Amino acid sequence: MDPTDRAELHDRLTLLSDWLSLGSRQERPEPVFEMPDPPREDGPRAGPEWLDAPFTPETLSKVETDVLRCAKCRLALNRKYAVFGEGVLNPPVLVVGEGPGEEEDKQGKPFVGPAGRLLDKMLAAVDLDRTRNCYIANIVKCRPPMNRDPAPDERETCMPYLERQIRFLRPKVILALGRTAAQTLLKTERGVAALRGSFHDRKGVPLLVTYHPSAILRDEALKRPAWEDLKKLRAFLDDGPAT
Ligand code: SF4
Repeated sequence: MDPTDRAELHDRLTLLSDWLSLGSRQERPEPVFEMPDPPREDGPRAGPEWLDAPFTPETLSKVETDVLRCAKCRLALNRKYAVFGEGVLNPPVLVVGEGPGEEEDKQGKPFVGPAGRLLDKMLAAVDLDRTRNCYIANIVKCRPPMNRDPAPDERETCMPYLERQIRFLRPKVILALGRTAAQTLLKTERGVAALRGSFHDRKGVPLLVTYHPSAILRDEALKRPAWEDLKKLRAFLDDGPAT
């Protein structure tokens, strides 16, 4: 019981006792009920500072805001729009390309030029679609000038954004399009031909490599192996990893 309540109860009981036994109130010393110490305002912390810091959960729109404001590398200088990515939350498939091209830079959306249209057709062939069951993003969020490959330092600077997207989206599988995406995600120097054909473990998420639609537009011979990769992806989604 709270000390204040105890004092009040004690007072009432003694008053009742006095009136019942003596008919009047008797003088008695005041009882002492100890109050607990008030909380210390400036005392030592019970733990490190982060224990008291309010927890702000990561959201995809927070990551997007950071990307749209980002000027951490030289690719910010010539971009029209940073291209964050688009698709559904908790997607079965996260598709990762290398970076925005001219059309993507103009619209601020990933894979909307000729390569994007081919990608949409490739995904549709295995019942995948950015509006239903995919999320599409890139290694770098700003267009490299003249559509050159993003430089290693640009990739390294931008990758934390994709890592944050992956942590938030929690895809079932990642489809890496082309050499730059595959090498950056898997931290390897091996080419697409050597990496495709089987699933890789990327920090606990299965990752499949296939050719970039831009490469397929330049070389039709890549269509067939890319189709084999997509069928493998579909089988994985339907049946789980091959045993
Ligand atoms: S490419 Fe990435 S790191 Fe570089 S400015 Fe754009 S968002 Fe920032």
